[in-house]
Amino acid sequence: MKNVAILGSTGSIGKTALAFIEKHPNDFKVVAMTAGDNIELLEAQIQQFNPEFVSTRSENALSQLRQNLAHQMSRKIDFDFGTRGAETVGAFPKADIVLSAIVGAAGLRPTIAAAKAGKTIALANKESLVVAGAFVTQTAKENGATILPVDSEHSAIFQCMLNSQPDDIERLILTASGGPFFLQPELDLSSITKEQALKHPNWSMGEKITIDSATMMNKGLEAIEACWLFDMPSKKVGVVVHPQSIIHSMVEYIDGSVIAQLGVPDMTGPIAYALAYPKRLPKAIERLNFSKLKTLTFFEADHHRFPSVNLALHAFNHGPTFPAVLNGSNEVTVRAFLDGKIQFTDIAAINEAVLFKYSSQSASCLEDFIEADQWGRHQAEHSVRHKEK
Ligand code: NAD
Ligand code: MG
Repeated sequence: MKNVAILGSTGSIGKTALAFIEKHPNDFKVVAMTAGDNIELLEAQIQQFNPEFVSTRSENALSQLRQNLAHQMSRKIDFDFGTRGAETVGAFPKADIVLSAIVGAAGLRPTIAAAKAGKTIALANKESLVVAGAFVTQTAKENGATILPVDSEHSAIFQCMLNSQPDDIERLILTASGGPFFLQPELDLSSITKEQALKHPNWSMGEKITIDSATMMNKGLEAIEACWLFDMPSKKVGVVVHPQSIIHSMVEYIDGSVIAQLGVPDMTGPIAYALAYPKRLPKAIERLNFSKLKTLTFFEADHHRFPSVNLALHAFNHGPTFPAVLNGSNEVTVRAFLDGKIQFTDIAAINEAVLFKYSSQSASCLEDFIEADQWGRHQAEHSVRHKEK
């Protein structure tokens, strides 16, 4: 039996994880969870999974939750809110494994709390590695924490690398669906609506990552994530567009052999793999039906229409705090697009302009990364206001 703490229980990853845990009551017990402001869902999750500790993003949400639960719970639950509460979930003493599934840089501090507490971290929150990969991986190392990838591409690479020698690896090949617009080269991307961009062809995910997939920034963030998770230089990380999302990623070896991991596009697969590791639990996902599948296709990434992959790699190669600037800017521009304030193509344009305005800063502590993230946000907010006028 593993005790699980969940950061971001009401999100797409959090809900998928809980649905999996529900089917395996003898393997997992939820001991702590945190979420944003979806109090109704959190309340239902508390009643079903009976955790010992619960945290919400805001104090308001917490007081509403406590009010709602006042006469319902038979057992005492401890509560908190904000960053402190999320950090308590990350470092929860009874937890054997922490699922890090808050969206965005808000996941950074609780993930670090888990690393400091020496936890096994099932990491979905790629932004924490993008913002402060050096700090997160070093903290994990110093405290004996293990990071297991939940992102499907990285879970695939992890599985393709089992029992391999680092020197035998030529490169990691991340597959990308290309998002909803890749196969429509004639489409004018500046006129894309929020509804169009939120229709991902293969995966059902939270809003932010769905927009990141449409701009292909998601693949840029994942390239950085792969460099940190697998200790690879960026020149050894490539991207290939594979619209069916059946091959989740690949590892090419120096002898020319390529190992790929396949499965239906269902996040239950990588979540189950990370939670149960090193075991595998039966029937986590639907089986692949090869006779129905018939064809798998591959395309080169189109860096002209989708400049975000190169932008992310540029940031990664330019200095330790550049990715934090890019990520901060991207969180602001994605939000602004979802709020109807800027066009789809403004997302990458503003991110690029913000990144090119930044000059290198040293990074000796966590605050340096957070300062870079804030700088990126402020610059992007300024540009969004300018566009709105
Ligand atoms: P989501 O928006 O559906 O859910 C985010 C969760 O975080 C929600 O529970 C929300 O309430 C919570 N949250 C947000 N801010 C918070 C805060 N300040 N304090 C506490 N809780 C907070 O997002 P998602 O799609 O589940 O993605 C989560 C993470 O996993 C992201 O980093 C994403 O890139 C990564 N990821 C997601 C998928 C997917 O299929 N959804 C796949 C791969 C990786
Ligand atoms: Mg992914």
